[in-house]
Amino acid sequence: MADVELRFHDRLNDLLKPARRGRTLTLAATRRAAIKDVIESLGVPHTEVDVILVDGASVGFDHLLAGGERVEVYPWPTAPEAAQHLRPTPPACPRFVLDAHLGRLARHLRLLGFDCRYRPDIADAELAAIAEREDRVVLTRDRPLLRRKRIRLAHWVRHTDPWRQVEEVCDEFDLYPAFAPFTRCARCNGRLASVEKAAVLHRLEPLTRRHAEAFLECEACGQLYWHGSHVARLEERVARLRRRGLRKSER
Ligand SMILES: [Zn+2]
Repeated sequence: MADVELRFHDRLNDLLKPARRGRTLTLAATRRAAIKDVIESLGVPHTEVDVILVDGASVGFDHLLAGGERVEVYPWPTAPEAAQHLRPTPPACPRFVLDAHLGRLARHLRLLGFDCRYRPDIADAELAAIAEREDRVVLTRDRPLLRRKRIRLAHWVRHTDPWRQVEEVCDEFDLYPAFAPFTRCARCNGRLASVEKAAVLHRLEPLTRRHAEAFLECEACGQLYWHGSHVARLEERVARLRRRGLRKSER
């Protein structure tokens, strides 16, 4: 069989080994292979791909390569006009499921109001099943996880710092218009509701009792939130993120 020529575009190069970035790769075709498997064998999960062109024609992940083709692989959002866009369009307010490494990202996204399933001991198979069953977007640092066919919409998180990760995810899914800060519990994903100070007085430290007036309580786990230094810091973060969203929408 003749060799296959492959070219990955734009940020898909982040996922390749350094020596393979930004150049045309030549692969020996030893058998007919599904294009999804060929792309993923080079380290690029199918969830990062939006358009595949084989000799100029757009194809799906099941397309079989026979040898001798020229393949171009594009990510969202820089893929060219094509008959088939493989990345599903995310909803305006996506719900997420996060891998075990992304606990702090899950907490931050919850504080912004986003529904995030997260458990530190979640297994890959269970995570993929939840994503499919509940129509959730997978956020992960684990590339092999994204090779699972059940996962259709996902993002491989590039940054390691949790607040940089928040910015990255907000940019990727344009979450800015959907912010609803302090409506969801960072600890358990439950809904927050206003609660009278008198009803929680017995649970407060003396200093909080004296200085805080407005309280939110998680309907699921009972965690209390109030306007102290912690919330003030988060409000500043939220304001900074909103400014970032505004700058993006003006571009
Ligand atoms: Zn809670």
